[in-house]
Amino acid sequence: MSSSAASNSGERLAPLSGDELAGVRAALRESEERFRAALDAIPANVYEVDADGTIVFCNRHWLAYSGLTLKETTEGGALQAIHPADHEAIREIALVARADLRPYENEMRVRRFDGAYRWHMSRTVPVFVDGELRSWVGVNIDIDDRKRRELVSAFLARAGRLLSESLDVERTLAAVAQLAVPDLADWCRIDLAAEDGSARLISYANAEPERMALAASLRERFADRSSNEQAAARVIRTGEYELIEDLGPMFEEALAANPEFEPILELDFTSALVVPIRLREQTLGAITLATAESKRHLTEADVRLAEEFADRLAVALENARLYRDVQESALELTAANRAKDDFLGLVSHELRTPLTTLKGMASVLRRHGDRVSPEERDAALLDIERGADQLQAIVENMLVLAHAEHASIEGPEPLLLRRLLEQIIREERAQFLGVQIVLKVPDQLIPVVGYESHVRQVLVNLLSNAIKYNRNNAPIEVELQSADQEAVITVRDRGIGIDSDRLAQVFEPFFRASEGKARAPGVGLGLTVCKRLVEHQGGRIWASAREGGGSEFHFTLPLASELD
Ligand code: ADP
Repeated sequence: MSSSAASNSGERLAPLSGDELAGVRAALRESEERFRAALDAIPANVYEVDADGTIVFCNRHWLAYSGLTLKETTEGGALQAIHPADHEAIREIALVARADLRPYENEMRVRRFDGAYRWHMSRTVPVFVDGELRSWVGVNIDIDDRKRRELVSAFLARAGRLLSESLDVERTLAAVAQLAVPDLADWCRIDLAAEDGSARLISYANAEPERMALAASLRERFADRSSNEQAAARVIRTGEYELIEDLGPMFEEALAANPEFEPILELDFTSALVVPIRLREQTLGAITLATAESKRHLTEADVRLAEEFADRLAVALENARLYRDVQESALELTAANRAKDDFLGLVSHELRTPLTTLKGMASVLRRHGDRVSPEERDAALLDIERGADQLQAIVENMLVLAHAEHASIEGPEPLLLRRLLEQIIREERAQFLGVQIVLKVPDQLIPVVGYESHVRQVLVNLLSNAIKYNRNNAPIEVELQSADQEAVITVRDRGIGIDSDRLAQVFEPFFRASEGKARAPGVGLGLTVCKRLVEHQGGRIWASAREGGGSEFHFTLPLASELD
C-alpha cells in the first residue's frame, strides 16, 4: 500500500477517490486470483472451512483427487470422503484445537475418486481478520507410501514378537494373520504344505466379521473350485510368488464361464498376491494377501514386504519344528530308559525262575545224590534240563533282539519244512510230557528257504505261548500248508484268546494283555522275536481269533521253487 507510512503514524487516512478505490479492488482481485492459482497448483488438497464448519473453498487438486464437484464437496462430500475409522480421532484433536483457536495436525485416510483410501497428513490453521476468527484452512498431503511402510514395519515387529513367544504354530499363525489385516492387506490367508505337497489352510482373516462370515459361506460352497486354494497349492509347488494387480478381468472371465460365482463379487476383491514361505530349498507354505474393500492395488512393492513377512514365518516354523524334535527325542529317550529298566526287571525275574530250579535240583543231587531213588534222580535231572532249556530260549530271544543272531549265520539255506517240523514237534512233545501237540502235514516235503535255527526258535516261542495261555489242557494243533509262493505254518490253541483290536499289538515289544499277564509269567518279547526272525527270512506273521475260541498264529516262509 502506498500510504503505509501515514498509517503507521496513526494519522487519519484521507478517503480514496473513486479511481483509487477501483485500483485497490483490482489489485486485491489480482492478488486473490494469483493466490488461488497458486493453491490450485499445489500437489495437495487445500480447503477452507468457515467458522461454522461450512466448506467455502477447495482447490482443483482436491476436485481431481476426490472426483467430487464443488457442490458435492460443500454439501458433506468432503467429510464422507474421510475413512469412517478415522472420524473419531480427528474429532477429538479438532475439538480441543478449535476451542483454543490454534493450528492442529492429524493423519487420516481420504478416499480417492476410484474408491481407494490413501493416508494423508493434514494441517489445519485458523485464519484471523482483525483479530477475529474468519475460517480454517487445511492442507492434506499424501503420505500413503511412507505411512504404509511404517504400518507394515510395526506389523512385522508385532508379528515377530508373537511368533517368538509361542511354539503352538497353528494358533500363532491364526493370530498373526489377524494382525496382518488391514495394514498389510484387507485379507490374509496362511497355508502350510501338507505331507503330500498340497496346501493345508491354517487361517484366514479380514478385519470385518460380516465379511469373514460371507467368505466362510462362499468357501463352503465353492471349496475345491476356489482359485485362491489352487494358487496357494501352485505357489507351494513352484516356490514362486504370484501377483495379480487387478483381479477385475479374471473375475469377469470366471463369471462368464460360471455365472454361479456371482456372490463372490460381493467381496469386492481388487488384487491378490501369493508368496511362498521358504526355508533354504524347501517351501513350507504360502501367504495370500488380497485387497478388497480398501480398493487398493497390491504391487511389486508389496511383494518385498510380503516376502519379509514370509521369512519371519519361516524362521518361526523352523524354531517350532526344532523344538518339537528336541522334545520328541527327549521323550523317546525317557521312554527308552523306562523300557530298558522294565526290560531288565522283567528279564531278571524270568531268569530267576529257571535258575532257582537249577540251583535247587543241583544242590539236592549233590547233598543227597546217594540216597535218592533212580526215578527221583531222573525227575531232578529232567527239571535241570528244562530249566537250562528255558534259560537258553531266553538268551536266544535276547540275542535276536540285540540283532546278534544274524552275525553268526551264513546265508539262508533250503530246508525240508515237513521234516523239520516233525523233528521239532518230537522234541517239544518229549519236553512237555502231559501236553498234546497234533501235527498236520501234507504229503510233500515242502522245501523252503530259511534258517533252521530261526524256524525252530519261532515255533518254540509259539508253542510255548500256546501252552502257557491254553485252557483245559486242550490239544494244540500245528498245521503246515503250501500256498502259491509260500509255506504257511499255523499254531492253534483253545486258550484265553486275544481281543480282535489287540491282534496286531501282540507283536510289539513288551506288549502283554492283562488276561495273559494274570495267567502266566512272561516278558512280552517272544512274539517280537518271532516277527523279527520270520521277516528276516522273507516271511510274514500274524495272529487271528480261532473259530470256537482260542488263538491262531500263522507264519510264512518263501518256497524254494528250484527244489520242487
Ligand atoms: P509273553 O508271553 O512273554 O508275555 P509274547 O511276546 O510271547 O510275550 O506275547 C505277548 C502277549 O501276547 C502275551 O503277554 C499275551 O497277552 C498274548 N499272547 C501271546 N500268545 C498268546 C496265545 N496263544 N493266546 C493268548 N494270548 C497270547
